[in-house]
Amino acid sequence: MSVCDVTTPSNSMMALDKAKSMMLDKVTPLTTQELVSLQECWGRVLADDIRSPLNMPPFDNSAMDGYGVIASDLDEIEQLTVVGSSFAGAPYNGIVNKGECIRIMTGAKMPKGCDSVVMQELVTVCEQRITINTKVNVGQCVRHCGEEFSVGEIVLAKGDVMSARHIALIAALGLESVLVISPLKVAIFSTGDELVAQGTPLKEGQIYDSNRFSIIAQLQAMNMTVIDFGVIPDNPKQLKEAFEQANQQADVIISSGGVSVGDADYTKDVLEELGQIDFWKVAIKPGKPIAFGQLTDSLFFGLPGNPVSAMVTFDQIVKPALHKLRGEGQSKALRLSAIVTNDIQKSAGREEFQRAIVTSEGGELMVSTTGAQGSGMISSMCKANCFIVLSREQQSLVSGDNVSIELFDSNLVG
Ligand code: AMP
Ligand code: MG
Repeated sequence: MSVCDVTTPSNSMMALDKAKSMMLDKVTPLTTQELVSLQECWGRVLADDIRSPLNMPPFDNSAMDGYGVIASDLDEIEQLTVVGSSFAGAPYNGIVNKGECIRIMTGAKMPKGCDSVVMQELVTVCEQRITINTKVNVGQCVRHCGEEFSVGEIVLAKGDVMSARHIALIAALGLESVLVISPLKVAIFSTGDELVAQGTPLKEGQIYDSNRFSIIAQLQAMNMTVIDFGVIPDNPKQLKEAFEQANQQADVIISSGGVSVGDADYTKDVLEELGQIDFWKVAIKPGKPIAFGQLTDSLFFGLPGNPVSAMVTFDQIVKPALHKLRGEGQSKALRLSAIVTNDIQKSAGREEFQRAIVTSEGGELMVSTTGAQGSGMISSMCKANCFIVLSREQQSLVSGDNVSIELFDSNLVG
């Protein structure tokens, strides 16, 4: 018999924040490193700070297409003589003297003598002479050597995750490869006699396994090495074998299902036999039965079987652990305030993550739930772009109330 939500005393569950900090205390970042090329570093975590080998920009250059001038000339001289040109990649090698100027393009090196650039739209050209129709400030439209950062400065930090933005910077520094943390090895399996593979017709009482694919997709998005153990039946012996093998092969084991207290829920018993369970009931909805603990050579997370519960607990509990394990800095998910546009039924007891759609209207964030919030309703996740996060104490709300929302992170969205 499974324990019904309503009858679970809320004081027998651990608060999500407490569970998270207790879990994070047990997680020691892995330190194995490898060198990867610029083309392969997307999504990887830097194993060390990167110090710039260059000044940025590496030389004074023009920020505009126009004319390189000596600003002080313009106090006395009406017209300047164009003595040459400086293109990006083809600098002018002479010196610009009083009364002279240079045709210059964006990114071109500033010639010796010039201190400022006037954009071409503000210049009248007559043969090789120009008249400037504006006041010129010394240094205008010039990007100075080292103004962004200098040689030796730390520009990317250990723990940074390489996105397109970071890759642009690494490329600009001229680096061909970077040192990153080696991918975590994560073993994954689903448990349940009712679960069958896609492509197999469903017999009575069967459903397709979805949790494994959702979790694998999120692990792949974090560049982790997935060791897929498939579906394990509700059989303590087979479950034990799976955990033992996974413990030998992986840094982290993630299972789903069989973690509550039903007659076929063996995950917790097997884990208790093989290792140490730190918690297995967290005051979170959906997702109350969620186990975390340690085997001899790995950490394990026993996620609930209900697919939305599995996604929410993965997002809220497993992901921060994986981030810490691979050496990422811990960042708290950004919570925003929004106005809810429908009533929400809630009783005190668990922190809730309701699936919702947020839009911006007239500068205000407006959020509505996706409708029925059953923990097995995967479509509620697909319609949503955020969670409405309701505290344990919070009770029912009415349309117009303020709520906290958490935008789905890129792994749930993308
Ligand atoms: P359990 O946690 O094993 O008691 O399962 C709770 C609910 O989630 C049951 O309705 C299961 O059939 C369902 N469930 C368990 N594992 C999966 C899975 N991998 N994919 C889809 N549904 C699942
Ligand atoms: Mg089950």
